[in-house]
Amino acid sequence: MNACVFELDDFQTDDISLYALTELRRRNPKFKATYYTVLGNCDMAVLRDLGGLDWLELALHGLDHGAERFWGYEEAVSYLDYAESFGVFSKLFKMPWFDEMPDGLARALIERGYRLATRRRHLVDNLRGSEVPVWLGCQWTVYAHPPTLPKRMLEVEWEAFDRFYTVSQMFEHKEALDKQWVIHV
Ligand SMILES: [Zn+2]
Repeated sequence: MNACVFELDDFQTDDISLYALTELRRRNPKFKATYYTVLGNCDMAVLRDLGGLDWLELALHGLDHGAERFWGYEEAVSYLDYAESFGVFSKLFKMPWFDEMPDGLARALIERGYRLATRRRHLVDNLRGSEVPVWLGCQWTVYAHPPTLPKRMLEVEWEAFDRFYTVSQMFEHKEALDKQWVIHV
């Protein structure tokens, strides 16, 4: 049994990320992916098309990959209203920086039932008691961002995986809960 959770950071409708969808799906028809999207840098028509693929999860990764750090609650709510108006994103947000989650953004995400993803557990320490579900990644994760994607496409044996999961699917996965790949902060 050989499972893969493919997580692509910093997606912004760039050519290599779009090419990977076709090429990796060709190499393994079971291919699935979670793309963390920098919404402000995207072509909305392309995002709407991608929203129709049931094997691609589009998650949120900020508006411009920087300014979100300084948002208060009101700005966070406007961003989520805007993002949700497209109807293509799952309720999953990955922090686009290596600071703790700002309080206003955290409050807006938690109120709306979002789940979080981070590779650094200590970054959600300030949310303790909120019971928000957090995905921390696992050994099944193949991680890339657009500059490293061409290399990953070559070096990973995509044909060898017999199961793919999106990150949202992992929140319900028994092994992920047992092994604390998913925690409730
Ligand atoms: Zn990022």
